[in-house]
Amino acid sequence: MDKQFNQCPNCGSEQRFCETLANELKEKGFAREEWTFSYETRQGAVVDKAKEADIPLGSDVPAFSITTDICLDCGTFYAIRLNSGTVTKQMPPPKLYKPGQGQFGNDPRFS
Ligand SMILES: [Zn+2]
Repeated sequence: MDKQFNQCPNCGSEQRFCETLANELKEKGFAREEWTFSYETRQGAVVDKAKEADIPLGSDVPAFSITTDICLDCGTFYAIRLNSGTVTKQMPPPKLYKPGQGQFGNDPRFS
């Protein structure tokens, strides 16, 4: 799903606060034309924390992205984009450590 809302659900205005600020920057040539600025984007996987450990590696779980902005005319805070898809559960990244500074670094038996 990928839904975009270009009008304020309260007053119907298409003027948005963050988008207007972004356009000012673009007019000055300090931002790329395709660049966008919004109030907030939240994204993540949809997971029941109590069951997370039971999900096998390689499984697909739903993921979301929600982008919001604020109506410049009436101040209504609303979603301008709702996006959903899937992400695949992967191995956590390996812990990196430098030789000589590993987990035994402070153990006198390994010095
Ligand atoms: Zn409005």
